[in-house]
Amino acid sequence: MAFAYRGGVLCAEQVSLDEIARRFGTPCYVYSRALIESAYGGFARALRRRDALVCYSVKANSNLAVLALMARLGAGFDIVSGGELARVLAAGADPAKILFSGVGKSAAEIEQALRAGVRCLNLESEAELARVDSVAARLGSRAPIAFRVNPDIDAKTHAYISTGMRHDKFGVPYGESERLYREASRSPHVQIVGIGCHIGSQMLQPAPLAAAVARLASLAARLERAGIALRHIDVGGGLGIRYRNERVAPVGRFVASCLKALRGRKETLILDPGRALVGNAGVLLTRVEYVKRNGARRFLVVDAAMNDLLRPALYGAWHDVVPVRKNRGRRAVYDVVGPVCESADFLARGRRLAAREGDLLAVRSAGAYAMAMSSNYNSRPRAAEVMVDGDKAQLVRSRETVEQLFALERIP
Ligand SMILES: *Cc1c(COP(=O)(O)O)cnc(C)c1O
Repeated sequence: MAFAYRGGVLCAEQVSLDEIARRFGTPCYVYSRALIESAYGGFARALRRRDALVCYSVKANSNLAVLALMARLGAGFDIVSGGELARVLAAGADPAKILFSGVGKSAAEIEQALRAGVRCLNLESEAELARVDSVAARLGSRAPIAFRVNPDIDAKTHAYISTGMRHDKFGVPYGESERLYREASRSPHVQIVGIGCHIGSQMLQPAPLAAAVARLASLAARLERAGIALRHIDVGGGLGIRYRNERVAPVGRFVASCLKALRGRKETLILDPGRALVGNAGVLLTRVEYVKRNGARRFLVVDAAMNDLLRPALYGAWHDVVPVRKNRGRRAVYDVVGPVCESADFLARGRRLAAREGDLLAVRSAGAYAMAMSSNYNSRPRAAEVMVDGDKAQLVRSRETVEQLFALERIP
């Protein structure tokens, strides 16, 4: 196992988190290359008999080292901004494997994507079709497009991360999609290459995804009869991971359900997972600053905070918190909180732990939507990031300095 205790000390692959804290300081994100590779391998194996492409959803964790690893493994990328496009190109991505998603692409971002030669722009409205058509016309090119269709299916996940229902802001309504494709087929500066959907995140079972894919397959069949051929069907991401004790169907079952719903269809199958590739490949390493008690409540005040890991404050998300050194100290029930001046600044609540001032803790499942959502709130420099590969630990993002935080500011 990549994050396991050896001689009573929690390690990332073969490097102890003690040593990482000594070398790089805390708070610090630590990723395991082997775990990312094995998660990607799970998708590749499940898809080996099918013309398919895995496009890693960059927003989950956009560190260049992670992106470069994905590119070397053969992954494509699902991006949502011009910034992410620049990142994946810097990391060595093949533009022919880049999908550009998102509801609010600016004209400048569309131009940047067309110049880079991305595989597909996933359109989310009729207005966006008009904008893409006019940008492509100005450049004298043809924009490869797909519509992100909203299949109106409940992914049975947290309301903040459900995206595939009629009232969500994402995608075009299923009932209007055929008309939009006909309209796009008459636009001289766009070329239809696919259809897509993404119904939500942290799905535990494949049934909602299978239902959505079945709707895409039937739409693809109708488009084909109308003379509109597609190169790919993009079923999105959203495969869940285990944070606590959730029962998550294995990747192979999600993929099998998609393949079944697509039986008879020849288009390339695209998946764009984020969390399932990196979520359990990272931990946030933090040190206990103070142990305190307010009335009946006990707190471990640690040096990581909501600006480093927002998910508990934002979604009430549960992350496992474990000691780096196993110890026999007296256990008590603690809230694990950071130094930020907000009551929502907690990493975990009500955990039975034995910890003293100066001890190291690891917050698990912190590889996805963790560093990527971090901020400088309270003028806190962002944490360092470290990638472990076997017995080597390498800094992949330096800890920010306070001077960097206000370097762009001017006193008039
Ligand atoms: C966020 C997103 C994903 C990835 O979601 P995960 O739950 O991390 O797998 C995939 N596709 C699109 C279009 C997204 O917006």
